[in-house]
Amino acid sequence: MAELEGLEFGKSDFVLLDEVNMEQFMENLKLRFEKARIYTFIGEVVVSVNPYKQMDIYGKEAIDAYRGRELYENPPHLYAVADAAYKAMKRRAKDTCIVISGESGAGKTEASKYIMQYIAAITNPSQRAEVESVKNVLLKSNCVLEAFGNAKTNRNDNSSRFGKYMDINFNFNGDPTGGHINNYLLEKVRLLRGGSEEMLGSLHLQNDPVNYVYTREGAASTFYNTRIMNCVSATPQGNLQFETDSESVQVVGSEAVSDIAGLTTTEPDNVTKSLLYRTVATGGGEVIEKGHTEKEACFGRDAFAKALYERLFCWIVARINAVIEVKDYNPVLHGKNTVIGVLDIYGFEIFDNNSFEQFCINYCNEKLQQLFIELILRQEQDEYQREGITWQHIDYFNNQIIVDLVEQPHKGIISVLDEACLTVGKVTDTICLESMDAKLGQHPHYTSRKLTPSDKTMEFHRDFRIRHYAGDVTYSVEGFLDKNKDPLFQDFKRLMYNSSNPVLKEMWPDGQLSITEVTKRPLTAATLFKNSIVALVDKLGCKEPYYVRCIKPNEMKSPVLFDDARCQHQVAYLGLLENVRVRRAGFAYRQPYARFLQRYKMTCEYTWPNHLMETDREAVEAIVTQHGFQDDVAYGHTKLFVRTPRSLFTLEQERAAL
Ligand code: ATP
Ligand code: MG
Repeated sequence: MAELEGLEFGKSDFVLLDEVNMEQFMENLKLRFEKARIYTFIGEVVVSVNPYKQMDIYGKEAIDAYRGRELYENPPHLYAVADAAYKAMKRRAKDTCIVISGESGAGKTEASKYIMQYIAAITNPSQRAEVESVKNVLLKSNCVLEAFGNAKTNRNDNSSRFGKYMDINFNFNGDPTGGHINNYLLEKVRLLRGGSEEMLGSLHLQNDPVNYVYTREGAASTFYNTRIMNCVSATPQGNLQFETDSESVQVVGSEAVSDIAGLTTTEPDNVTKSLLYRTVATGGGEVIEKGHTEKEACFGRDAFAKALYERLFCWIVARINAVIEVKDYNPVLHGKNTVIGVLDIYGFEIFDNNSFEQFCINYCNEKLQQLFIELILRQEQDEYQREGITWQHIDYFNNQIIVDLVEQPHKGIISVLDEACLTVGKVTDTICLESMDAKLGQHPHYTSRKLTPSDKTMEFHRDFRIRHYAGDVTYSVEGFLDKNKDPLFQDFKRLMYNSSNPVLKEMWPDGQLSITEVTKRPLTAATLFKNSIVALVDKLGCKEPYYVRCIKPNEMKSPVLFDDARCQHQVAYLGLLENVRVRRAGFAYRQPYARFLQRYKMTCEYTWPNHLMETDREAVEAIVTQHGFQDDVAYGHTKLFVRTPRSLFTLEQERAAL
């Protein structure tokens, strides 16, 4: 609750609003954006608005100002949260995590980089060479991932097409010893559509960092594979077409095939075969080759391009992890190894047309919201208990019911989807939707959008609606099933496994299975994603969380435009008002007695210049009583708790007037 800035910059903590409502929230957010105050607290949460211009607030001076300080001693800043997470980790040997969320272009990745830079800057004061080298690799791994995993989209020129969670490990000195990255890949489609050329371009620019990390890992093969990825992935977008003549499907021209064969070190004949046929096992155990229809061939080609990209990306992450993983760590010798996790993950998405990807992303956000509720409330509760203060129960919307709607075994949406995908025979998206309607039609957060027979504008109904905690989203079910299946024919996997390029071979170990060995019930995309998010939430759940909520001020990348409607929409779905309410419903403000005294002793005749009371607590009581808000506070064992910020306001104003 830093009131170090004047009020002309708005309120630096939303809990200080006179009243918690959207109007006041937006007014404050806008004012601060216009005054170039891009960060605002909600208690310990930082709300950030993308300034779309270079800000002079990240330099060495700023770093020094925040280093080792308490949150309220400085204006809101990413550095304040980073420092809080670091302090908790170092002083109390707690694992902590910083969760950064917001929509595409809101500034998550930039924020994560500033946080990493801050942590790098404040650690290893003695400049030990091995620590410096770890820091370097950690920082630079980001460039490698960006080079491979970012693309220009119409929403963000440098959009991350994957969610990223990075653990940074620290030794007992609080110096980084290594790390680990988990990636949550989703948007192959958009990356391939918009990205291939950009990526190639960006690779040249990012030459150095790539080399840096890969020196030990074989830079040549990496570059080689990048070319493969780009070319092969790009090929289906343009060059590789099919035609049907006298009933059989052919590849148009031979150049595309020989390109792919050359790049993947495979035989052109085998490439052609994989593109046109698939091996299937019949019920009787016979193995036959079945020619694709033109449509199937296109489908296979696209799936191949996506899978190539995905495997390469995961392989790169695995290589980075091999380099940054903590080595030779001996807990007896080196003390407790603590962790700060940084999560840069896509926020809630509501587009005009929402598909499987948005469904996954929004499910992920439901899970994170659930965690947020649990942790924030639990944390509050823990602190009140520790301080011996009676906990006031507050009502909040618990979104567990929506999480269940999506993920419950046998009943949830994912399970219905999976069932449809694993059913033999023709199950269309529409049939799947019908079975979803049948199972979930009564659920309070699910709306079947069945059209009445009188509505002749559409032949089938094609969407369903989920009432998410952040708002209603209508999903078009078209393509859901294909996206959920493991769409890659075994023939492509075998093709890659048989490549004479050892790295490619390594990426496709499942290519060695014969068609009869291939599991009949592969995990679907939704289930794999769910499992990875459940694992992520488990990882975060045992850490002390810090939050950065990013907001995108406008769609034009403009540093001066504050689009009220767009911003309000984000504030709503990020649940920020609720966040303020939760924070205020308990005690909005708390401070150790000594610190409170330090800050406000000059406002009371009994404490200025020095107090004669026996304890700091008594002195604080004197200040509180003199200002008449004794009914608004509770006295903990070590801290003063103030319920409404207004009380503090009075003090702040008086202090400023002195
Ligand atoms: P996506 O989900 O698409 O990956 P994102 O939330 O990670 O989006 P960023 O890539 O971090 O978004 O930010 C988008 C752009 O906004 C940046 O390339 C940069 O131009 C600008 N930007 C973001 N944060 C800042 C900042 N703190 N200072 C200056 N510019 C910023
Ligand atoms: Mg990003």
